Amino acid sequence: MDTTSFTKKTLGLETIEPALTPPLSAITQLPKKPKMSSGKSKTRKREIPEGLWTKCPKCSTMVFDKELDENLKVCPKCNHHFPIGSRERIHSLVETCTFEEMDAQMASVDVLGFKGVATYASKLAAYKKNNTFLKDAVVTGLCQIGAHRAALGVMDFGFLGGSMGSVVGEKLTRLIERATEKELPVIIISTSGGARMYEGMFSLMQMAKTCAALAYHAKKHLPYISVLTHPTTAGVMASYASVGDLILAEPAAMIGFAGPRVIKDTTQAELPPGFQTAEFLLDHGLIDAIVSRREMKQQLISYLDYLTHQKQQAIRKQAG
Ligand SMILES: [Zn+2]
Repeated sequence: MDTTSFTKKTLGLETIEPALTPPLSAITQLPKKPKMSSGKSKTRKREIPEGLWTKCPKCSTMVFDKELDENLKVCPKCNHHFPIGSRERIHSLVETCTFEEMDAQMASVDVLGFKGVATYASKLAAYKKNNTFLKDAVVTGLCQIGAHRAALGVMDFGFLGGSMGSVVGEKLTRLIERATEKELPVIIISTSGGARMYEGMFSLMQMAKTCAALAYHAKKHLPYISVLTHPTTAGVMASYASVGDLILAEPAAMIGFAGPRVIKDTTQAELPPGFQTAEFLLDHGLIDAIVSRREMKQQLISYLDYLTHQKQQAIRKQAG
């Protein structure tokens, strides 16, 4: 009996042993897995759809688009700031579901009947068709950033180069006036090629209009933070973008009035290295700080904490 039971046990063990050993062999087989992926790589070039990877223009790294989006369009290797749309930027700054957009339906009109290589009317129609979420080059609204209610205006370079026409000027002016009325801080994030020349003098008038609204806002001792992103130039830089109580900029952003080539031709002088970059302007005192996009929200909150604390102290002093 014992012998039979013993033989049965050994038989049982024999059957179990091979079952136990395969995991070990499976571990040894693991390094073979790359062969599978190398086999796949033959078809990889065909399988990858366009627009899945983006090459960083600064460090030439291929960055996975999903990773780039999660990193707020900042290269994880070299900190290069890619262009970002106004909607994505708002999403990265405000508390969830707190953005109340203002004047969302306001759209530009071709008042001058401008005709050039392409008519203004045809340009507007093309941009509105391609950018279904944009009616013009700025999105404005009231929102919550950290513990602060604030008026936020975010420009979008994707709509006619972020140019400032009547709609951009009017939307920002209404935003600033609403902030003045409700005693809120204003934050404007700029990116622009300048005034919209399709609208001639009407676009230039927006410079004075926005600055006048900001002057009334400042009279109430309310803070205005201007954030300059790549690129902020010409009429926008010569008006509301450069009159902030605090002026911040994203790293390596190109900031200036006229382009470097125009300045070089006019002055007939060699331009210094790094001319018109955020870093150059920080060294020369035109801006207050360079803030990375990934730290922008936290920095804005701490600046608002500081600026509104100062205001509360001033009110207390006046009352006392
Ligand atoms: Zn890079």
